[in-house]
Amino acid sequence: MALVDGIALILTTTAIFDYYHHKNLQRLDNTVILVLYFLFIPLTLITKNQDFTLIWTFFFPLFAIITKGQYSGLIHTAVFYSIIFPIVFMGIGEWQNGTWSDKSFLRFALASLLLTYIIFYFKKSHDQVYDKLRGLLTKQKMLSKEMEMLSITDPLTGLYNRRHLQQTFQREFKRARRDGHYFCFFIFDLDHFKEYNDNYGHGQGDIVLCQVTDIFKDCMRRSSDLAFRFGGEEFCGLLVSNNDHDANLLVDNIRRKVEAKNIKHSHNDGRGVLTVSAGIHILHGDTQISFTDLYKATDRALYQAKARGRNCCVNYTTKHEELNT
Ligand code: GH3
Ligand code: MG
Ligand code: MG
Repeated sequence: MALVDGIALILTTTAIFDYYHHKNLQRLDNTVILVLYFLFIPLTLITKNQDFTLIWTFFFPLFAIITKGQYSGLIHTAVFYSIIFPIVFMGIGEWQNGTWSDKSFLRFALASLLLTYIIFYFKKSHDQVYDKLRGLLTKQKMLSKEMEMLSITDPLTGLYNRRHLQQTFQREFKRARRDGHYFCFFIFDLDHFKEYNDNYGHGQGDIVLCQVTDIFKDCMRRSSDLAFRFGGEEFCGLLVSNNDHDANLLVDNIRRKVEAKNIKHSHNDGRGVLTVSAGIHILHGDTQISFTDLYKATDRALYQAKARGRNCCVNYTTKHEELNT
């Protein structure tokens, strides 16, 4: 028996070491189950239930069902008892100086089966609760992701909102600094939009905001380009670029596309169609500037674009030079 115990100890220790190195829990479980077969069957045969050694066999279903799962564990337990029960049955009238009787066998068999049933039942309930909890947790994670997305998204256009702009400003500026690139910020605003609403209705105004958003999104092609609705009929864009002129072209492209969309607006300085005006600010990543100052400067450029008759872009950096006529 000491030899069997020694081999079982060596096998278990090796399996535990193996687990620490390879983190393969399934291999550890399989080895321990094999050890239990190897340990309990000779134990039963050799000790013949002296000093109640059969009690050790109760650990088999416990370990098998918990580690291998309810069904696989139950199959292992069935195999184990189909070997143990005949051995124990053969001991009737012989074991324990002949005192191991048929009643003793029945008692052992019933206790083993009852214990197996209880463990099986608990494992099943545990797994059901665990599955439910896992489902709830996944749902909760999805909900909080959705909530997070909602908190940074504008509901009408689906663009990022003002809150997200303030959150991402520092991160994008750092990225520009790290890569030695330019940080480009622009604001564009729909021209005479109040009159548009007054003439065509607020609902139609909302539709136009979405049409302009589609053009805006279409122009912001790179995955790193960030588009925001800052509020009302004012939109902002944030880009990191390796040059200080791409952003001018991009913003003017938005302006031209909005004009070319031919959205009827009969109160827009006689143009007949909806237009936008924009202010642009392009800074090297090394520049130190707060979001408030950046916004103020860009807004000043936008104000200048409005003052110059609208439907144009003004770059703050190039001393308020008008980019188009
Ligand atoms: P300017 O060319 O100087 O920008 O003139 P404007 O009329 O566009 O500017 P103003 O700031 O006077 O008016 C902005 C208008 O934008 C007023 C408001 O009715 C409209 N607006 C703001 N948010 C929304 C919105 O969510 N939906 C609609 N339909 N209109 C909005
Ligand atoms: Mg406006
Ligand atoms: Mg405005």
